Amino acid sequence: MARIAVGGFQEETNSFTSHRADFTHFATHRDRPPFVRGDAVLEQLRGNTFALSGFLSAVRPEDSVVPLVWSSGGAAGPVTDDAFERIVGELCGRLSAAMPVEAVYLDLHGAMVNTIFDDAEGELLRRVRAIVGPSVPVVISLDYHANLSPAMVALCDGMLAYQTYPHVDRPDTGRRAAAVVHALLERGRPAGRAVRHASFLLPVDFQCTLVEPSRSVVGWQPGGPAAAQVVSMAYAAGFPAADTVWCGPAVAVHAWTQEAADELADAWIAEIEAREAAFAIPLYPAADGVAEALRLSAGRSRPVVLADTRDNPGAGGRGDTTGVLVELLEARAGPALVGLLCDPLAAAAATAAGVGAEVDLALGGRHGPAGVAPVQACFSVRALADGPFTMTGQVTGGAVADLGPMAVLRSGEVDVVVVSKNVQAYDPAPFARLGLDWTTYRIVALKSSCHFRADFEPGAAAVLSVLAPGAYDPDPRHLPYRLLRPSVRRLPGQVGQPAPDPSEGDSPVA
Ligand SMILES: [Zn+2]
Repeated sequence: MARIAVGGFQEETNSFTSHRADFTHFATHRDRPPFVRGDAVLEQLRGNTFALSGFLSAVRPEDSVVPLVWSSGGAAGPVTDDAFERIVGELCGRLSAAMPVEAVYLDLHGAMVNTIFDDAEGELLRRVRAIVGPSVPVVISLDYHANLSPAMVALCDGMLAYQTYPHVDRPDTGRRAAAVVHALLERGRPAGRAVRHASFLLPVDFQCTLVEPSRSVVGWQPGGPAAAQVVSMAYAAGFPAADTVWCGPAVAVHAWTQEAADELADAWIAEIEAREAAFAIPLYPAADGVAEALRLSAGRSRPVVLADTRDNPGAGGRGDTTGVLVELLEARAGPALVGLLCDPLAAAAATAAGVGAEVDLALGGRHGPAGVAPVQACFSVRALADGPFTMTGQVTGGAVADLGPMAVLRSGEVDVVVVSKNVQAYDPAPFARLGLDWTTYRIVALKSSCHFRADFEPGAAAVLSVLAPGAYDPDPRHLPYRLLRPSVRRLPGQVGQPAPDPSEGDSPVA
């Protein structure tokens, strides 16, 4: 019989956007539950698709859980000091009040940057460790995009990370974390822990686990006597837009002996280093991507999907850039579908006008960066929707989303799905909610980098990643890092090439 404190606090930080994630950001319901505390954590997370959901499903009947707080901000700019202290303060206050507990499990992201603490999870774990003392096991699970810091690895006793991108194994990751907690409740805190960082960064576009080499990296199995000593193993591909010292791909091993942890971490990172050159995929300028999509879709019954990766809200994009839309309109590419474009003003105007109306609008393009402008046109309102609906895809299927007023606006042969909250286009449900079947279009442009692949790639003739101006710059050579360790190669396969002066690159600041 053990009391296990559980909670979570997640955000994936793009350090290079002007946006700041304040408390309201965390308290708002988008495609995940808003900030919840106490018993509401259990009500919102049980049966849901997050790591804590899986953990709760795997707790032994003889144990009890003490819910602290849970909050997920998705991807956004740096977390304000106010939001960080309010959420971490309440998590720690509830943990202090719950003592004594026999174990702690936290559902974290691993790439959170606060305006004060660049290793935000390390700071959170320092406070948690100070409360529970030296003998209570602390187990954490992380996103596949975590940037592992030595502090995070040192302060916890077991570390898991999603093994998929698109992330379709979040509940399973929580179940694996529960198994680690159970093992540590039996044997106590392990003696060994090791972290190793790759010598290069990986843009998220190069990290998909549906293809090699990432598929083999996450599937790597330890061998020899050291394997029997493993408590937990985690590979995280890193989130390059988070400016921290320890940004980039890394592995962490917790083991019963330090020798085993070191041996396995060395072997795993060597496997990743050996595959460095194989990670890159082509990225097309938007006009070239549209032209290639028209060529590839000719005579095909299935659409070509364009990944508008630079405006991926999951990487800090504002979800309202218009570069790909402009290229589709200029190429008279149709029938084409664009989504999800976040423009609450346009959604409200369409709602007021009604289905079938014609509206003159300046659509999207309100948040920069340079080169992004609204599309001024007369659109016909094809469909409207509002209120909650259920996601149906593999990443968050079953979760209830609320994107506010939504509309389908048509110009020429291009349908634009407009939403009122900034959410990555990775699930077919928002399109279906508006009565659209995405498979009937010739080209489908999605504001996403990889998550869409779980549900859209099987029905697509091809998938192309395209580059139009946006807040996320997939080329880390352009990012003006302040903290990243200087020896890191900014792209895989750039052996021997020094990083260029960031002042020579595009401005990545939205
Ligand atoms: Zn992620």
